[in-house]
Amino acid sequence: MISQRVLDLDVSGIRKVFDLARELKDPINLSIGQPDFAVPETVKAAFKQAADDDQNAYTPTQGHQGLIEALGADAEQRGLQFEDLIVTSGVSGGLLLAFSALLNPGDEVVMSDPYFLMYKQLATYLGAKATTVNTYPDFRCTAERLEPHLNEKTKCLVLNFPGNPTGVGLSPSELSDLADLLKRHPHITVISDEIYRLFHYDSAFTSLSSLLENVITLDGFSKSHAVTGWRVGWATGPKTILQQMAKLQQFTFVCAPGPAQIACKEAMGVDMSEQRLNYQRKRDLICNLLQDHYEFTRPQGTFYLFPKLPDGYGGADEFIAKAIDNNVLIIPGHVFSKQDSHFRLSFATSDEQLIKGAEVLQRLAKG
Ligand code: PMP
Repeated sequence: MISQRVLDLDVSGIRKVFDLARELKDPINLSIGQPDFAVPETVKAAFKQAADDDQNAYTPTQGHQGLIEALGADAEQRGLQFEDLIVTSGVSGGLLLAFSALLNPGDEVVMSDPYFLMYKQLATYLGAKATTVNTYPDFRCTAERLEPHLNEKTKCLVLNFPGNPTGVGLSPSELSDLADLLKRHPHITVISDEIYRLFHYDSAFTSLSSLLENVITLDGFSKSHAVTGWRVGWATGPKTILQQMAKLQQFTFVCAPGPAQIACKEAMGVDMSEQRLNYQRKRDLICNLLQDHYEFTRPQGTFYLFPKLPDGYGGADEFIAKAIDNNVLIIPGHVFSKQDSHFRLSFATSDEQLIKGAEVLQRLAKG
């Protein structure tokens, strides 16, 4: 009865942890992939005002004109190269549209391992072949590592800096080497998922599309303004591709939620640097608490840490079960990887929870 395409999708391993979480009373939850700070008051007020002003109808498929203009001006100011911009239903919506617009069955899509789990599932859904590039142990998806995996069948490359689940990005010189490599493969379209752009800590963020044409850049408000439920993101890139994405949006999502788009325009004017600095401080806190107990690569961004499992565990599931016995929720690394050797923790939580969670993890590392 059910289509093979859907049957081939795995139930998200993250959902499985969330199901377990429901059975725990007051867990120390280090599994959550969304910020814990409050949505700025002015942004919430703009949402309510939009609803009160009866702006509750469909917006154009491409998005609310005012938001499109504001996003376009900001992207230009940041040096992105693009011909067109559409508002999407979150970055998830943008990913579905971009993958669908580009991939035929049998086409190859290259991604680093570990990867954000949706990339692999979408490739499967479309009958494309996901080629993964092993980036352990430092998780740098460099030109050198990528090059052997690119060939004439490669249709697109998905990049995510700083990345979920590792928090790792690339230095400016590594990014420029990557752009040079991709200039030698002009048939490959890059999908650059920059949803964690705000959470980039030690240096200024560089968007790949400021260095390279033929990039679809996906970005969104979910993480930067803690509005994961509003479903607003955007895509920039070549007009020929963006137009096809807009066509598909018309027959699927129709548009991103109207009042949320209007409130997101307001959100663009809110300074979020305090929230970024606070997460940078939390990054330092968790790294200090765990560095003598776990092997990990210090994340340049996001709010995730991806440590190696301590010795003595058969795999992440065994370790996660132990953590759950101690009331701590984390995500097994095999959800994001072919390899089962790491786990993901999110530090988007209170310092108190982070310290308590780290104490449990320190104990578990001792065995
Ligand atoms: N890309 C990455 C790397 C993510 O981590 C997430 C959310 N966890 C998304 C995309 C989807 O975000 P959105 O809420 O904008 O759909």
